[in-house]
Amino acid sequence: AASRVHFSALSPLTGILGFAKLIKKKLVNVVYPQVASPEPKVEKTMAQVGDNMDVIVSEGERLTELINDVLDIAKMEAGKTEWRRHRVYMAEVIDKAVQSTKALYTEKSLPLNLDIEDKLPEIIADRDRLIQVLVNLISNAVKFTEQGSITIKAAHVDEFVQVSVEDTGVGIAAEDQQSIFERFKQIGDTLTEKPKGTGLGLAICKQIIEHHGGDIWLESIQGRGSTFYFSMPVRGVDVGLDE
Ligand code: ADP
Repeated sequence: AASRVHFSALSPLTGILGFAKLIKKKLVNVVYPQVASPEPKVEKTMAQVGDNMDVIVSEGERLTELINDVLDIAKMEAGKTEWRRHRVYMAEVIDKAVQSTKALYTEKSLPLNLDIEDKLPEIIADRDRLIQVLVNLISNAVKFTEQGSITIKAAHVDEFVQVSVEDTGVGIAAEDQQSIFERFKQIGDTLTEKPKGTGLGLAICKQIIEHHGGDIWLESIQGRGSTFYFSMPVRGVDVGLDE
């Protein structure tokens, strides 16, 4: 998830994660070199303990992400989120989101194409929150696509700036297309296939877009890919801006 405020609720987890990382480092750098045992059973156990420590760290990181998302959406739904108002150029927001997800799509060798209309009108929005929406949509596109490409488009449509993130991945069945915007909704068998996210990403995107008077929706054909769209109103009201 994009940059977020750190909540005090996370401090126990920060301690757990910090010590888990420290223990792993000390095992590898200090303890293991001393133990160098010819006994295969000991050798195997040492490797297992090291792997187990890695699982504690990566699951702790997942839990951190989950708590952040839960707190984020709870605050939004309670109307306690502090929204900022900036003059925003969508091309700039897209550029930031593309930069921050570069490691994800390059790691999977997925080309990312851009088709951004020239001279898009500026909008008034919370810039970081819009980046968060795009990072989420791009991350999902990468996560659910093994081959093909990802394409981001932005255009001026009526009184809105409309953005789309298109992928050539697994797609989403028609009967699931509305419910994926609900909290904790993940498609597939979450008991056998370990989900990689929190199931809150799209619910948060929806909250952010709707707060700005915009809309978010998708088109998808199962097995062929998905396109997520969002629109943001172009308004002339530029009083009380934060920047
Ligand atoms: P998360 O990705 O953390 O599971 P989201 O709310 O972002 O949660 O997405 C909810 C579910 O919607 C995902 O688990 C997945 O089943 C489906 N989904 C979202 N984006 C895509 C996509 N681009 N292609 C296929 N399925 C998707």
